[in-house]
Amino acid sequence: MKDDLIPLDPGARSAILAAAASLEAETETMLARLVRFPSTLGRERGCLGAMEAIYRDLGHTPFRVPVDVKALADHRGFSPPLMDYAGRSPVAAVHRPRATIGRSLMLQGHIDVVPEGAAELWTSPPFQPEIRDGRMYGRGVADMKAGVVASLMALEALRRAGLQPAAELQIAAVIEEECTGNGALAVMQALGKPDACLIPEPGPGYPALYVAEVGVVWAWVNVIGRPAHVREMHSGINAIEAAMAIAGRFKSYEQEMNRAEHRHPSFAADNHPININLGRFEGGEWNSSVPNKARIGLRVGVMPGRSCRDVAADIQRIVAEAAAELRLPEGNARVEFQGFMADGCTFPADQPISRAASACHSAVFGEPLRHYAAPALTDARFYRLYQGTQATCYGPDSENIHGIDESVGLASLHGVTKALALLVAGWCGVEAI
Ligand SMILES: [Zn+2]
Repeated sequence: MKDDLIPLDPGARSAILAAAASLEAETETMLARLVRFPSTLGRERGCLGAMEAIYRDLGHTPFRVPVDVKALADHRGFSPPLMDYAGRSPVAAVHRPRATIGRSLMLQGHIDVVPEGAAELWTSPPFQPEIRDGRMYGRGVADMKAGVVASLMALEALRRAGLQPAAELQIAAVIEEECTGNGALAVMQALGKPDACLIPEPGPGYPALYVAEVGVVWAWVNVIGRPAHVREMHSGINAIEAAMAIAGRFKSYEQEMNRAEHRHPSFAADNHPININLGRFEGGEWNSSVPNKARIGLRVGVMPGRSCRDVAADIQRIVAEAAAELRLPEGNARVEFQGFMADGCTFPADQPISRAASACHSAVFGEPLRHYAAPALTDARFYRLYQGTQATCYGPDSENIHGIDESVGLASLHGVTKALALLVAGWCGVEAI
Protein backbone atom coordinates (compact mmCIF):
# COMPACT_ATOMS: atom_id res chain seq x y z
CA MET A 1 0.00 0.00 0.00
CA LYS A 2 2.83 2.37 0.89
CA ASP A 3 3.98 2.64 -2.73
CA ASP A 4 0.77 4.52 -3.60
CA LEU A 5 1.91 7.44 -1.47
CA ILE A 6 5.17 9.34 -1.33
CA PRO A 7 6.51 8.94 2.23
CA LEU A 8 5.97 12.09 4.22
CA ASP A 9 8.52 13.43 6.66
CA PRO A 10 7.05 12.85 10.18
CA GLY A 11 7.53 16.53 11.07
CA ALA A 12 5.69 17.66 7.94
CA ARG A 13 2.95 15.13 8.59
CA SER A 14 2.29 16.33 12.12
CA ALA A 15 2.47 19.97 10.99
CA ILE A 16 -0.18 19.27 8.31
CA LEU A 17 -2.47 17.44 10.74
CA ALA A 18 -2.07 20.17 13.37
CA ALA A 19 -2.86 22.84 10.76
CA ALA A 20 -5.95 20.90 9.65
CA ALA A 21 -7.11 20.61 13.28
CA SER A 22 -6.70 24.37 13.72
CA LEU A 23 -8.93 25.03 10.69
CA GLU A 24 -12.10 23.39 12.05
CA ALA A 25 -13.92 26.59 13.01
CA GLU A 26 -13.01 28.21 9.67
CA THR A 27 -14.19 25.10 7.86
CA GLU A 28 -17.61 25.31 9.47
CA THR A 29 -17.88 29.05 8.84
CA MET A 30 -17.01 28.61 5.17
CA LEU A 31 -19.47 25.74 4.80
CA ALA A 32 -22.28 27.77 6.37
CA ARG A 33 -21.44 30.68 4.07
CA LEU A 34 -21.78 28.49 0.99
CA VAL A 35 -25.00 26.81 2.16
CA ARG A 36 -26.65 30.25 2.46
CA PHE A 37 -26.58 30.49 -1.35
CA PRO A 38 -29.64 28.71 -2.77
CA SER A 39 -27.57 27.53 -5.72
CA THR A 40 -30.25 25.51 -7.49
CA LEU A 41 -30.33 25.20 -11.27
CA GLY A 42 -30.04 28.65 -12.83
CA ARG A 43 -29.28 30.34 -9.49
CA GLU A 44 -25.61 29.38 -9.11
CA ARG A 45 -24.16 32.82 -9.86
CA GLY A 46 -23.84 34.04 -6.24
CA CYS A 47 -22.24 30.85 -5.04
CA LEU A 48 -19.81 30.76 -7.98
CA GLY A 49 -18.81 34.34 -7.17
CA ALA A 50 -18.22 33.33 -3.54
CA MET A 51 -16.09 30.39 -4.69
CA GLU A 52 -13.99 32.75 -6.78
CA ALA A 53 -13.47 35.01 -3.74
CA ILE A 54 -12.65 32.03 -1.49
CA TYR A 55 -10.12 30.69 -4.00
CA ARG A 56 -8.45 34.09 -4.07
CA ASP A 57 -8.44 34.39 -0.25
CA LEU A 58 -6.75 31.00 -0.03
CA GLY A 59 -4.01 32.02 -2.44
CA HIS A 60 -5.30 30.36 -5.62
CA THR A 61 -5.76 32.18 -8.93
CA PRO A 62 -9.30 31.46 -10.10
CA PHE A 63 -10.47 31.56 -13.68
CA ARG A 64 -13.81 30.79 -15.29
CA VAL A 65 -14.41 27.87 -17.63
CA PRO A 66 -17.35 28.64 -19.93
CA VAL A 67 -19.69 25.77 -20.80
CA ASP A 68 -19.61 26.06 -24.58
CA VAL A 69 -22.50 23.99 -25.91
CA LYS A 70 -21.26 24.16 -29.50
CA ALA A 71 -17.84 22.81 -28.53
CA LEU A 72 -19.24 20.05 -26.29
CA ALA A 73 -22.38 18.97 -28.15
CA ASP A 74 -20.66 16.14 -30.06
CA HIS A 75 -18.90 14.75 -26.98
CA ARG A 76 -20.19 11.33 -25.91
CA GLY A 77 -20.54 12.55 -22.32
CA PHE A 78 -22.61 15.60 -23.18
CA SER A 79 -26.20 15.75 -21.92
CA PRO A 80 -28.94 17.86 -23.54
CA PRO A 81 -29.07 21.05 -21.44
CA LEU A 82 -32.14 22.36 -19.65
CA MET A 83 -31.08 26.00 -19.88
CA ASP A 84 -28.53 28.50 -21.16
CA TYR A 85 -25.02 28.69 -19.63
CA ALA A 86 -24.48 32.46 -19.75
CA GLY A 87 -23.28 33.82 -16.40
CA ARG A 88 -22.91 30.37 -14.83
CA SER A 89 -19.36 29.39 -15.73
CA PRO A 90 -17.58 26.97 -13.37
CA VAL A 91 -14.59 28.26 -11.38
CA ALA A 92 -11.20 26.55 -11.56
CA ALA A 93 -7.59 27.09 -10.53
CA VAL A 94 -4.34 25.27 -11.26
CA HIS A 95 -1.38 25.13 -8.90
CA ARG A 96 2.01 24.44 -10.47
CA PRO A 97 5.00 23.43 -8.34
CA ARG A 98 8.53 24.69 -8.62
CA ALA A 99 9.69 21.11 -9.15
CA THR A 100 7.49 18.13 -9.83
CA ILE A 101 8.02 15.24 -7.44
CA GLY A 102 4.72 13.38 -7.42
CA ARG A 103 1.63 12.90 -9.56
CA SER A 104 -0.92 15.52 -10.56
CA LEU A 105 -4.41 15.58 -9.10
CA MET A 106 -7.79 17.17 -9.76
CA LEU A 107 -9.96 17.91 -6.72
CA GLN A 108 -13.37 18.74 -8.10
CA GLY A 109 -16.71 19.46 -6.53
CA HIS A 110 -20.13 20.76 -7.53
CA ILE A 111 -21.82 23.76 -5.98
CA ASP A 112 -25.24 23.24 -7.55
CA VAL A 113 -27.87 21.84 -5.20
CA VAL A 114 -31.25 20.24 -5.77
CA PRO A 115 -34.43 22.15 -4.81
CA GLU A 116 -35.24 22.18 -1.09
CA GLY A 117 -38.61 20.47 -1.51
CA ALA A 118 -41.31 21.49 0.95
CA ALA A 119 -39.43 24.09 3.02
CA GLU A 120 -42.04 23.92 5.79
CA LEU A 121 -41.09 20.31 6.48
CA TRP A 122 -37.53 21.29 7.42
CA THR A 123 -36.67 21.61 11.13
CA SER A 124 -34.65 24.73 10.28
CA PRO A 125 -34.91 26.69 7.00
CA PRO A 126 -32.99 24.87 4.22
CA PHE A 127 -30.77 27.82 3.31
CA GLN A 128 -30.12 28.96 6.89
CA PRO A 129 -27.56 26.40 8.03
CA GLU A 130 -27.84 25.27 11.62
CA ILE A 131 -25.67 22.99 13.76
CA ARG A 132 -27.46 20.47 15.98
CA ASP A 133 -25.80 17.57 17.81
CA GLY A 134 -22.60 17.72 15.81
CA ARG A 135 -24.28 17.91 12.42
CA MET A 136 -24.79 20.87 10.11
CA TYR A 137 -28.19 21.02 8.41
CA GLY A 138 -29.09 22.72 5.14
CA ARG A 139 -29.74 22.01 1.47
CA GLY A 140 -26.50 21.10 -0.25
CA VAL A 141 -24.52 20.99 3.00
CA ALA A 142 -23.57 17.35 2.40
CA ASP A 143 -24.20 17.13 -1.37
CA MET A 144 -21.67 18.50 -1.71
CA LYS A 145 -20.60 21.81 -0.27
CA ALA A 146 -18.95 19.98 2.66
CA GLY A 147 -16.73 18.10 0.21
CA VAL A 148 -15.89 21.31 -1.64
CA VAL A 149 -14.84 22.94 1.63
CA ALA A 150 -12.93 19.83 2.77
CA SER A 151 -10.75 19.85 -0.34
CA LEU A 152 -10.01 23.58 -0.05
CA MET A 153 -9.19 23.27 3.64
CA ALA A 154 -6.97 20.26 2.97
CA LEU A 155 -4.87 22.47 0.69
CA GLU A 156 -5.00 25.26 3.25
CA ALA A 157 -3.64 22.87 5.91
CA LEU A 158 -0.61 22.26 3.71
CA ARG A 159 -0.17 25.98 3.18
CA ARG A 160 -0.33 26.75 6.92
CA ALA A 161 2.27 24.04 7.44
CA GLY A 162 4.49 26.00 5.03
CA LEU A 163 4.09 23.45 2.24
CA GLN A 164 2.59 23.17 -1.22
CA PRO A 165 1.89 20.25 -3.56
CA ALA A 166 4.94 19.19 -5.55
CA ALA A 167 2.87 18.35 -8.63
CA GLU A 168 0.20 20.08 -10.63
CA LEU A 169 -2.97 20.37 -8.60
CA GLN A 170 -6.25 21.36 -10.22
CA ILE A 171 -9.31 22.50 -8.31
CA ALA A 172 -12.74 23.23 -9.72
CA ALA A 173 -16.21 24.16 -8.54
CA VAL A 174 -18.70 23.09 -11.18
CA ILE A 175 -22.42 23.40 -11.93
CA GLU A 176 -25.12 21.00 -13.14
CA GLU A 177 -23.77 17.87 -11.46
CA GLU A 178 -27.40 17.30 -10.47
CA CYS A 179 -28.89 17.42 -13.97
CA THR A 180 -26.36 17.10 -16.81
CA GLY A 181 -22.73 17.06 -15.70
CA ASN A 182 -21.92 19.52 -18.48
CA GLY A 183 -20.07 21.79 -16.04
CA ALA A 184 -17.61 19.02 -15.18
CA LEU A 185 -17.31 18.03 -18.83
CA ALA A 186 -16.36 21.60 -19.78
CA VAL A 187 -13.76 21.74 -17.00
CA MET A 188 -12.27 18.37 -17.95
CA GLN A 189 -11.95 19.46 -21.58
CA ALA A 190 -10.42 22.83 -20.66
CA LEU A 191 -7.75 21.68 -18.21
CA GLY A 192 -4.87 19.28 -18.87
CA LYS A 193 -5.30 15.58 -18.11
CA PRO A 194 -4.39 14.94 -14.46
CA ASP A 195 -2.95 11.66 -13.15
CA ALA A 196 -6.07 11.23 -11.03
CA CYS A 197 -9.32 12.92 -10.11
CA LEU A 198 -10.90 12.78 -6.69
CA ILE A 199 -14.37 14.19 -5.98
CA PRO A 200 -15.36 14.47 -2.29
CA GLU A 201 -18.99 13.44 -2.82
CA PRO A 202 -20.63 12.28 0.40
CA GLY A 203 -20.88 8.70 1.53
CA PRO A 204 -24.26 7.17 2.46
CA GLY A 205 -24.41 7.71 6.24
CA TYR A 206 -20.68 7.08 6.63
CA PRO A 207 -17.53 8.24 4.83
CA ALA A 208 -17.15 6.01 1.80
CA LEU A 209 -15.09 5.20 -1.27
CA TYR A 210 -17.15 4.95 -4.45
CA VAL A 211 -16.49 1.76 -6.42
CA ALA A 212 -19.29 2.05 -8.98
CA GLU A 213 -22.23 4.21 -9.94
CA VAL A 214 -25.25 3.80 -12.17
CA GLY A 215 -25.94 5.99 -15.17
CA VAL A 216 -29.05 8.12 -15.54
CA VAL A 217 -31.37 9.23 -18.34
CA TRP A 218 -33.82 12.08 -17.90
CA ALA A 219 -36.87 11.71 -20.14
CA TRP A 220 -39.92 13.94 -20.47
CA VAL A 221 -43.15 12.62 -21.90
CA ASN A 222 -45.56 15.18 -23.35
CA VAL A 223 -49.06 13.80 -23.60
CA ILE A 224 -51.90 15.39 -25.53
CA GLY A 225 -55.33 13.97 -24.82
CA ARG A 226 -58.58 14.84 -26.55
CA PRO A 227 -60.37 17.79 -24.88
CA ALA A 228 -64.04 17.51 -24.01
CA HIS A 229 -66.55 18.86 -21.54
CA VAL A 230 -67.01 16.42 -18.70
CA ARG A 231 -70.67 15.85 -19.69
CA GLU A 232 -69.26 14.21 -22.86
CA MET A 233 -66.29 12.86 -20.93
CA HIS A 234 -66.22 9.54 -22.72
CA SER A 235 -65.68 11.26 -26.06
CA GLY A 236 -62.41 12.73 -24.73
CA ILE A 237 -59.09 11.24 -23.73
CA ASN A 238 -57.88 12.41 -20.33
CA ALA A 239 -54.24 13.48 -20.79
CA ILE A 240 -53.50 13.13 -17.07
CA GLU A 241 -54.85 9.59 -16.90
CA ALA A 242 -52.92 8.72 -20.05
CA ALA A 243 -49.69 10.14 -18.57
CA MET A 244 -50.26 8.15 -15.36
CA ALA A 245 -50.78 4.98 -17.37
CA ILE A 246 -47.55 5.62 -19.31
CA ALA A 247 -45.61 6.22 -16.09
CA GLY A 248 -47.05 3.00 -14.66
CA ARG A 249 -45.50 1.05 -17.54
CA PHE A 250 -42.05 1.77 -16.14
CA LYS A 251 -42.69 -0.26 -12.96
CA SER A 252 -42.29 -3.60 -14.73
CA TYR A 253 -39.28 -2.27 -16.68
CA GLU A 254 -37.65 -1.27 -13.38
CA GLN A 255 -38.25 -4.74 -11.96
CA GLU A 256 -36.80 -6.30 -15.07
CA MET A 257 -33.64 -4.15 -14.96
CA ASN A 258 -33.01 -5.08 -11.32
CA ARG A 259 -33.23 -8.82 -11.89
CA ALA A 260 -30.09 -10.61 -10.72
CA GLU A 261 -29.05 -11.55 -14.26
CA HIS A 262 -29.07 -7.88 -15.33
CA ARG A 263 -27.16 -6.63 -12.34
CA HIS A 264 -23.58 -5.52 -12.80
CA PRO A 265 -21.20 -7.43 -10.44
CA SER A 266 -20.47 -4.17 -8.56
CA PHE A 267 -24.12 -4.16 -7.48
CA ALA A 268 -24.29 -7.83 -6.50
CA ALA A 269 -25.10 -6.86 -2.90
CA ASP A 270 -27.81 -4.33 -3.86
CA ASN A 271 -31.05 -5.86 -5.09
CA HIS A 272 -32.45 -2.54 -6.38
CA PRO A 273 -29.74 -0.34 -7.90
CA ILE A 274 -31.93 0.81 -10.80
CA ASN A 275 -34.54 3.27 -9.67
CA ILE A 276 -37.05 4.94 -11.93
CA ASN A 277 -38.46 8.07 -10.40
CA LEU A 278 -41.54 9.91 -11.58
CA GLY A 279 -40.16 13.24 -10.43
CA ARG A 280 -42.25 15.84 -12.24
CA PHE A 281 -45.89 16.04 -13.17
CA GLU A 282 -47.73 18.90 -14.83
CA GLY A 283 -51.13 18.86 -16.41
CA GLY A 284 -54.76 19.76 -16.55
CA GLU A 285 -56.61 23.04 -16.87
CA TRP A 286 -59.90 22.88 -15.04
CA ASN A 287 -61.78 20.50 -12.69
CA SER A 288 -64.73 20.35 -15.07
CA SER A 289 -62.80 19.89 -18.31
CA VAL A 290 -61.14 16.74 -19.57
CA PRO A 291 -57.44 17.69 -19.39
CA ASN A 292 -55.81 18.48 -22.74
CA LYS A 293 -52.17 18.14 -21.81
CA ALA A 294 -49.90 16.51 -19.29
CA ARG A 295 -46.13 16.31 -19.01
CA ILE A 296 -44.15 13.93 -16.85
CA GLY A 297 -40.45 13.97 -15.99
CA LEU A 298 -38.76 10.62 -15.39
CA ARG A 299 -35.34 9.74 -14.03
CA VAL A 300 -34.32 6.32 -15.26
CA GLY A 301 -31.27 4.53 -13.84
CA VAL A 302 -28.79 2.84 -16.20
CA MET A 303 -26.86 -0.27 -15.16
CA PRO A 304 -23.09 0.02 -15.73
CA GLY A 305 -22.27 -1.93 -18.86
CA ARG A 306 -25.44 -0.81 -20.63
CA SER A 307 -25.43 2.28 -22.82
CA CYS A 308 -27.62 5.20 -21.80
CA ARG A 309 -28.58 5.44 -25.47
CA ASP A 310 -29.98 1.90 -25.36
CA VAL A 311 -31.98 2.88 -22.28
CA ALA A 312 -33.24 5.97 -24.12
CA ALA A 313 -34.40 3.64 -26.93
CA ASP A 314 -36.16 1.44 -24.32
CA ILE A 315 -37.95 4.52 -23.01
CA GLN A 316 -39.12 5.46 -26.52
CA ARG A 317 -40.38 1.92 -27.06
CA ILE A 318 -42.23 1.69 -23.73
CA VAL A 319 -43.96 5.03 -24.32
CA ALA A 320 -44.91 4.08 -27.90
CA GLU A 321 -46.38 0.75 -26.73
CA ALA A 322 -48.34 2.42 -23.96
CA ALA A 323 -49.63 5.12 -26.32
CA ALA A 324 -50.81 2.49 -28.81
CA GLU A 325 -52.62 0.61 -26.08
CA LEU A 326 -54.26 3.83 -24.87
CA ARG A 327 -55.31 4.55 -28.47
CA LEU A 328 -53.66 7.93 -28.35
CA PRO A 329 -53.46 9.54 -31.80
CA GLU A 330 -50.04 9.38 -33.48
CA GLY A 331 -47.68 11.96 -31.99
CA ASN A 332 -49.74 12.55 -28.84
CA ALA A 333 -47.18 10.99 -26.52
CA ARG A 334 -43.89 12.58 -27.44
CA VAL A 335 -40.65 11.77 -25.59
CA GLU A 336 -38.01 14.47 -25.12
CA PHE A 337 -34.55 13.96 -23.66
CA GLN A 338 -33.35 16.93 -21.65
CA GLY A 339 -30.94 16.57 -18.76
CA PHE A 340 -28.89 13.48 -17.96
CA MET A 341 -27.83 11.18 -20.78
CA ALA A 342 -25.19 9.47 -18.70
CA ASP A 343 -23.59 6.04 -18.66
CA GLY A 344 -22.81 4.10 -15.51
CA CYS A 345 -19.22 3.63 -14.43
CA THR A 346 -16.96 1.62 -12.15
CA PHE A 347 -14.15 2.97 -9.98
CA PRO A 348 -11.89 0.00 -9.19
CA ALA A 349 -10.96 -0.08 -5.50
CA ASP A 350 -7.45 -1.24 -6.47
CA GLN A 351 -6.58 1.74 -8.69
CA PRO A 352 -3.80 3.80 -7.06
CA ILE A 353 -5.94 6.85 -6.18
CA SER A 354 -8.52 4.62 -4.47
CA ARG A 355 -5.85 2.71 -2.53
CA ALA A 356 -4.23 6.03 -1.58
CA ALA A 357 -7.55 7.50 -0.36
CA SER A 358 -8.22 4.31 1.64
CA ALA A 359 -4.79 4.44 3.27
CA CYS A 360 -5.20 8.12 4.24
CA HIS A 361 -8.69 7.50 5.58
CA SER A 362 -7.50 4.60 7.76
CA ALA A 363 -4.59 6.68 9.04
CA VAL A 364 -6.98 9.40 10.26
CA PHE A 365 -10.07 7.43 11.29
CA GLY A 366 -8.33 4.30 12.57
CA GLU A 367 -10.69 2.06 10.63
CA PRO A 368 -10.90 0.81 7.05
CA LEU A 369 -12.67 2.92 4.43
CA ARG A 370 -15.92 1.27 3.40
CA HIS A 371 -16.82 0.79 -0.24
CA TYR A 372 -19.97 2.15 -1.84
CA ALA A 373 -21.63 1.18 -5.12
CA ALA A 374 -23.87 4.20 -5.70
CA PRO A 375 -27.37 3.88 -7.18
CA ALA A 376 -26.91 7.52 -8.29
CA LEU A 377 -24.27 9.24 -10.38
CA THR A 378 -21.43 11.73 -9.96
CA ASP A 379 -19.13 13.76 -12.21
CA ALA A 380 -16.30 11.24 -11.65
CA ARG A 381 -17.59 9.24 -14.64
CA PHE A 382 -16.25 11.78 -17.15
CA TYR A 383 -12.64 11.27 -16.10
CA ARG A 384 -12.90 7.47 -16.15
CA LEU A 385 -15.01 7.01 -19.27
CA TYR A 386 -13.77 9.75 -21.56
CA GLN A 387 -10.31 10.75 -20.38
CA GLY A 388 -8.86 7.44 -19.22
CA THR A 389 -8.00 9.04 -15.89
CA GLN A 390 -8.36 7.13 -12.64
CA ALA A 391 -11.10 8.77 -10.63
CA THR A 392 -13.35 8.14 -7.68
CA CYS A 393 -15.35 9.84 -4.96
CA TYR A 394 -14.54 9.89 -1.27
CA GLY A 395 -16.28 12.20 1.14
CA PRO A 396 -17.87 12.65 4.56
CA ASP A 397 -21.02 11.00 5.83
CA SER A 398 -24.40 12.42 4.85
CA GLU A 399 -28.03 12.13 5.77
CA ASN A 400 -31.11 12.95 3.73
CA ILE A 401 -29.40 14.35 0.65
CA HIS A 402 -32.12 15.40 -1.84
CA GLY A 403 -34.56 15.00 1.09
CA ILE A 404 -35.73 17.00 4.10
CA ASP A 405 -33.22 17.98 6.83
CA GLU A 406 -30.11 17.17 4.78
CA SER A 407 -27.04 17.11 7.02
CA VAL A 408 -23.35 16.34 7.26
CA GLY A 409 -21.52 15.09 10.37
CA LEU A 410 -18.94 17.67 11.38
CA ALA A 411 -16.51 15.17 12.94
CA SER A 412 -16.67 13.22 9.70
CA LEU A 413 -16.08 16.40 7.66
CA HIS A 414 -13.03 17.34 9.75
CA GLY A 415 -11.65 13.81 9.51
CA VAL A 416 -12.07 13.75 5.75
CA THR A 417 -10.34 17.14 5.51
CA LYS A 418 -7.33 15.66 7.31
CA ALA A 419 -7.38 12.54 5.13
CA LEU A 420 -7.50 14.71 1.99
CA ALA A 421 -4.57 16.79 3.27
CA LEU A 422 -2.53 13.59 3.73
CA LEU A 423 -3.70 12.38 0.33
CA VAL A 424 -2.57 15.55 -1.47
CA ALA A 425 0.77 15.47 0.36
CA GLY A 426 1.33 11.80 -0.34
CA TRP A 427 0.03 11.79 -3.93
CA CYS A 428 1.64 15.00 -5.16
CA GLY A 429 4.56 15.17 -2.76
CA VAL A 430 5.30 18.44 -1.00
CA GLU A 431 7.79 21.26 -1.30
CA ALA A 432 8.36 24.28 0.93
CA ILE A 433 6.42 27.37 -0.10
ZN1 LIG B 1 -23.42 15.42 -5.36
